[in-house]
Amino acid sequence: MHLSKSQYMRGLQCPKALWLFKNRKDLAAEPDRRRLNLFATGHRVGDLAKQLFPGGVEVEYRQSDYQGMIDETARLIGSEKVIYEGSFASGGVFVRADILVRNGTVWDIYEVKATATTKAVHKPDVAIQWYVIGNEIPLGRAYLVHLHTGYVRDGELDIRSLFAIDDITEDVQAEQASIESNLDNLKVVLAGSEPDIPIGTHCNNPYECDFHGYCWRDVPYPSVLDLCRLNGNKKFEYYHNGIVTYEDAKNHIDLNAVQTLQVNTALNREPHIDTEAIADYLRDVSYPINFLDFETFQDAIPRFDGQGPYKIIPFQYSLHILHENGDLEHKEFLADEAEDPRLRLARHLLEDITAKGTIFAFHQSFEIGVINGLARHIDRYAAQLTAMIGRFKDLEIPFNRLMYYHPDFHGSFSIKSVLPALFPRDPELDYKNMDIQSGDVAMDIFPHLHEIDNPDEKAAMRESLLAYCRLDTLAMVRIWESLSKTTDGADK
Ligand code: SF4
Repeated sequence: MHLSKSQYMRGLQCPKALWLFKNRKDLAAEPDRRRLNLFATGHRVGDLAKQLFPGGVEVEYRQSDYQGMIDETARLIGSEKVIYEGSFASGGVFVRADILVRNGTVWDIYEVKATATTKAVHKPDVAIQWYVIGNEIPLGRAYLVHLHTGYVRDGELDIRSLFAIDDITEDVQAEQASIESNLDNLKVVLAGSEPDIPIGTHCNNPYECDFHGYCWRDVPYPSVLDLCRLNGNKKFEYYHNGIVTYEDAKNHIDLNAVQTLQVNTALNREPHIDTEAIADYLRDVSYPINFLDFETFQDAIPRFDGQGPYKIIPFQYSLHILHENGDLEHKEFLADEAEDPRLRLARHLLEDITAKGTIFAFHQSFEIGVINGLARHIDRYAAQLTAMIGRFKDLEIPFNRLMYYHPDFHGSFSIKSVLPALFPRDPELDYKNMDIQSGDVAMDIFPHLHEIDNPDEKAAMRESLLAYCRLDTLAMVRIWESLSKTTDGADK
């Protein structure tokens, strides 16, 4: 058996995922832009963390020469104090340690992760390194190096403050007892045919498995797995006991109110509309009505002063304004990717948003959180920004409080579920017609725009960002109009 550390971790999550990876890699999904960016961020953070222990020697990765990397590491162990990417093999497992630091007669392991905390999954990750490396050289302590979210950049990056270091030696040592049996299990799995492991919560935990498309191919949609507000383990328990469809769920599960609505509307193909509740919700809306949506990004490594790791930074907004006479205005802002977007964005927003009138957001806690963040960052606009907060009204409420429920929501109340259910055949409101189809993609594109040299490519990306955010607020306008129509004749 030959396993890398990542293959061992894959096998711990699901032995079938390891078997498929070794035997049917063709069935794996290609990594998407988000995953590729995560890899790239991990490498950048790893390189920066090496500066915590300067003067080390790096063992270069050579795909077809693992033995050469191992031999080179063995030579460096005899002479160096700090080794980056030191390579070892033992018990059929090959590992590379991010940073090894000599500490008297022993070596300490430093594993670097581009996360904000040490997570449970990091412990077996370091434990397998400890197991393999400990067979070759004496070890002292094991540390997890992660980003310190309390750090705020002020001038040059302060590497010591950017990172936090957690001593996880005890956890790593406690894991040693299970490693031999884990390896034995994986050896048996790899020696056999494709294991019969059912789908479960492990398909997305701790990582989203790239064989999802293959293993989930026979799961109908919708199914009991789509029931909202139901514990994940419970869903799979039902599913594996043959309660699969909504019909099954209706007959065999004690459904709560929202699940009952979800199942009944789907089976009857009839939306549920509580016109009185919707009329009540809409009663205090005042013109001009603002429909506001922000796009944000979170850098692992802060680029600007006043920015910390993974701090939410808004870079764009779209604002539709509906006037009492029916006129619809559109305003938007997309930052220059080369500078900190916050000051200009706040100034434009305060100019664009009307001085009075309701401000609709879809899932308003996000927009309010962004405004509070801007207020904390920019003293001179703080009062004006926070004054906006009392005017917010959440357009998600009629849906997540079940005033309006459409069978095609399938238990999700996000705008990406609500819009196509309400406007199934409107190409103007179809995210599938956009180059960018989700906020996750938008938040991945903007922080990398400054790295694009081709001006045409950059302009096209910027236009796609504008079009995506514009649709978010146009969607809100149309949803509000649709809600208003349902109350025609009700007491408003
Ligand atoms: S999709 Fe789920 S069951 Fe299939 S290999 Fe991945 S984790 Fe295992």
